[in-house]
Amino acid sequence: MVEEKQVIIVADDEKSNRVLLNELLKDRYRIILAKDGKQALARAQEFLPDLILLDVIMPVMDGHETIKMLKNDDKTRNIPVIFISGLDSTEDEQTGLDLGAADYISKPFHPAIVEARVRNHLRSVRQRRLLERLAHIDGLTEIPNRRSFEQSLEKEWFRCMRSKAPVSIIMVDVDYFKLYNDHYGHTAGDCVLRKVALGLSKSLNRSCDIVARYGGEEFVALLPDTEIDGGKMIAEAMRATVESLDLTHCKSNIFEKVTISIGGATEIPPSESFGEKLLNKADQMLYKAKETGRNRVVWYEE
Ligand code: GH3
Ligand code: MG
Ligand code: MG
Repeated sequence: MVEEKQVIIVADDEKSNRVLLNELLKDRYRIILAKDGKQALARAQEFLPDLILLDVIMPVMDGHETIKMLKNDDKTRNIPVIFISGLDSTEDEQTGLDLGAADYISKPFHPAIVEARVRNHLRSVRQRRLLERLAHIDGLTEIPNRRSFEQSLEKEWFRCMRSKAPVSIIMVDVDYFKLYNDHYGHTAGDCVLRKVALGLSKSLNRSCDIVARYGGEEFVALLPDTEIDGGKMIAEAMRATVESLDLTHCKSNIFEKVTISIGGATEIPPSESFGEKLLNKADQMLYKAKETGRNRVVWYEE
């Protein structure tokens, strides 16, 4: 995979400094320039850079004010800021670090030092992003994991509660999967789980829908702003997609292919409730789908 260049905002009111820093860094990173704090803030919100190099004394909005605003906004709070400042006393450095700067470089700066510190901070940013990503992705299927699902559920549940919009949840379980593993082996079983995960992901329509691996051979989908009919349609698309993967399962008691059973439920989140109840309803429906023959969708009806 070709990695995209990391993005740095360089904010300095003096043109010569902007030119110098741009020349120094532009081959390795994508540089966005800003002439004052206000511009830096606007560009930070727009581009969500990996790092910000911030002058302290600038017109319109100085560096101290700018970093305060950056730290006040959830979107920009975690972007590391390095002050590059003409104020070079220990107190100035301490002020900068107390305001949440990741580092402090005094002017006139040594290009090699700036380059090295920038490189170190960006390496940490990259590692942190990778860990964050890994913490939310299931290792086998590479779709979101249960923790990621639970976080999305909490967020979407309260959002839909406020807007009085319905939430649909779909629980999926592979049919007779123990028999599949016993016959074809665990490695073949893993391969099926990856294909099923991909098939389920492809059955979703909207960017806010998510499907996650819930554990073992169980998957779960969260469909915010989705009524019963829409939820049922997605569930049926999932069922049909897995059937059409055409994965032979000669030990299945119902069909010669790998199939899934699905339980679903829809609800407008009642005030002061949590999403777990809806999840349980969907799970009960999954149980019913198993009981009544598998390879089918059963939806919760009041
Ligand atoms: P049912 O139709 O009632 O769901 O039957 P089942 O055999 O699918 O259900 P059961 O819960 O008895 O067995 C689930 C099996 O899923 C057990 C295990 O062999 C398999 N399984 C769970 N996680 C994994 C995994 O990560 N990889 C593989 N290969 N198999 C797994
Ligand atoms: Mg199961
Ligand atoms: Mg199963």
